[in-house]
Amino acid sequence: SIFSAFVTDMTTERTFIMVKPDGVQRGLVGEIIKRFETRGYKLVACKMLWPGQDLLKKHYAELSDKPFFPKLIAYMSSGPCVPMVWEGREVVKMGRMMLGATNPLQSNPGTIRGDFCIDVGRNICHGSDGVESAKREIDLWFQPNEVAKYESHSKDWVYE
Ligand code: GDP
Ligand code: MG
Repeated sequence: SIFSAFVTDMTTERTFIMVKPDGVQRGLVGEIIKRFETRGYKLVACKMLWPGQDLLKKHYAELSDKPFFPKLIAYMSSGPCVPMVWEGREVVKMGRMMLGATNPLQSNPGTIRGDFCIDVGRNICHGSDGVESAKREIDLWFQPNEVAKYESHSKDWVYE
């Protein structure tokens, strides 16, 4: 359409998804990656990293006043994590839906949290809650040269 040149290509929206230390220890890295891959989303960055407290305090800065904050930082710094960047149409919102509610007891079966965990303090994965926070988190966890730019060969089979 006449507008197409001015509209952001929605297939390049990005979100920050991270397998938390409990997800890594419980062998759920592949399962979590598989769900995003088979949905049709494109993996553009992925690494293993044992995050320090400074990085985690920045990541969760908006929760610093919460009573559970010290426990959250201890949990998240207890082992290696697998931070990732996924790309695709409405991937921020869909990523949150695929993860399920923050508290796994409220996460629907079929979601990642709803299928694999029970406690809010051991909810195995993180997902950005908005496009702006996704940008902030991607910049916090990845160098620009760690995020790959490539075209998926499935593109025309996933998007109309
Ligand atoms: P998320 O975006 O769904 O991960 O949820 P939030 O941004 O609200 O919280 C970040 C993380 O803090 C959650 O994923 C939980 O691991 C943890 N968290 C949130 N609320 C609570 C709580 O009430 N108690 C505990 N122990 N941890 C919590
Ligand atoms: Mg959050």
